[in-house]
Amino acid sequence: MTELDPYEVGRSSDRAFWADAVADAIEARDPDEPIVIKGGVSPSGVPHLGHVNEIMRGYFVAAVLRERGHEVRQVFTSDDRDRLRKLPRRLADLDGNVVGLGEVDAGALGRNLGKPYTDIPDPFGCCDSYGAHFTEILRQDAERLDVPIEFVSNTDRYESGEFDDAIEHVLANQDRAREVLGQYQAKVDEDYVPFQAQCSECGHLTEEITDVDLEAGEIEYVCADVEAGEETIEGCGHEGTASLREGKLPWRFEWPAQWDVLGVDFEPFGKDHAEGSWPSGVDIARNVFDIEPPVPMVYEWFTLDGEALSSSSGNIVTVEEVLELLEPEVLRYFFLKDPTTARDFSIEDLDQLVDEFDRFERLYFGEIETGDDRAGELATQEGELAARAYPMLVGEVQPERIRIPYTFAAVLGMTDDADLREEIARREGHIPEDAPEWAVENALARVERAREWARRTDNEFNYELKRESIPSVEFDAATTSALEDVADVVEEGGNGEEVQAEIYEAADRHGVAVADLFAAGYRLFFDLEEGPKLGPFLAKLDRAFVVDRLRQER
Ligand SMILES: [Zn+2]
Ligand SMILES: [Zn+2]
Repeated sequence: MTELDPYEVGRSSDRAFWADAVADAIEARDPDEPIVIKGGVSPSGVPHLGHVNEIMRGYFVAAVLRERGHEVRQVFTSDDRDRLRKLPRRLADLDGNVVGLGEVDAGALGRNLGKPYTDIPDPFGCCDSYGAHFTEILRQDAERLDVPIEFVSNTDRYESGEFDDAIEHVLANQDRAREVLGQYQAKVDEDYVPFQAQCSECGHLTEEITDVDLEAGEIEYVCADVEAGEETIEGCGHEGTASLREGKLPWRFEWPAQWDVLGVDFEPFGKDHAEGSWPSGVDIARNVFDIEPPVPMVYEWFTLDGEALSSSSGNIVTVEEVLELLEPEVLRYFFLKDPTTARDFSIEDLDQLVDEFDRFERLYFGEIETGDDRAGELATQEGELAARAYPMLVGEVQPERIRIPYTFAAVLGMTDDADLREEIARREGHIPEDAPEWAVENALARVERAREWARRTDNEFNYELKRESIPSVEFDAATTSALEDVADVVEEGGNGEEVQAEIYEAADRHGVAVADLFAAGYRLFFDLEEGPKLGPFLAKLDRAFVVDRLRQER
């Protein structure tokens, strides 16, 4: 079997879409049907955008394989028998509200360190356990993104005995297991036993196994301390006996055991695994379990507005929050991009991502040409990618769909009147005469999302624009004339910088203090003394309205 480099799969081919290259590598193994694609995480805390890699990357590969006529099963393992090692800073309820630890009984939660996630009460009280709660959020995320994926609980698998054979096999071949893992982990010595037993007294998982009797199916243990990062989780010292189902395999063996039990053909993972458990997993799969490891693929991590995403530090954004800001197909598009490139998910600059998606969509429908603003080869690839992958982003390909540009949707969001929003969108040419009703409705739904974006980032669109009627203001003759000069520049199509410059020049020309002219502008548009940088902002509004308002006509 040729060795696959997880950094190269999906990359080393002339395919326009990385998922096609991955599918080629899977087909080359001549897999049994259904082809099994896996992802998975420990439900340690609030699932964030980075975790969605474990769902969406596999989704595109599954979609490609299905299109090629294969039967595919996409599974997600919740590695929920892992132990809680550390309390996260933030939690989230099932409605997507992210809260600090102070909102729940953190003391009670802290007493559960060292126990499997499925043996810890749900801090919100709505699910069977802590593990079930955070797995449920991910399951809902998959549903929101319309990904058909089967969730599998590791704890369930252990309890039902599906891991029995794998555990017995590893314990019957302990010498080989130690020899193989010992090449990767210094802690593996002659006393190391590849099993963690759950203490019948305190519920902690312990690594101190004193005897294994496979005939009787019994494992003797001492409930010992466990190192968790810088901290030590204390064991109770109890000496007891566990069955094969009362505990778990250590992760380095559990992962290959999952491949074996589930028959996994492809699994994407982050680069932490690429350095650690993947190389040992390949070795353990072949030399302990006697199976071939799946086709691997490393994905790069995301940052969130330039900072590392991290559940423990609390720098997170959830899928639910993101979907308040953009359509599911736009988020799916984010995951369609090359997984081997590190990317920033910028909420601040979210308009750029949405614009990029809109462009991708228009490319697919042939409404714009590639290459007009990009170098030849890149443009061809982009066109090929759109033709190939766009249908996988949307439930149904609909040429009549309408997209209001995101920043203009944010402008429309500055007024609450739904009819007025539609009227302006129509007047500005963003909604065609004969548009079907469903398309208009979907287009205007973006206005609410852009409104939420403005609120969340408190950007230049987070103001209420006084569109319906002119605020009651009285200006002196000089100010009125200066405002009219600015109106002329807007009417001539001046850009943001030009309008901004004209505000300074008109003030100077008419002997009005610059600050007063700006204040007059804010008064006219927001009935406030202050607002966003006025020139660039006015240039983003519909021109006729701005001109009339500056002339105090409406
Ligand atoms: Zn719950
Ligand atoms: Zn104990």
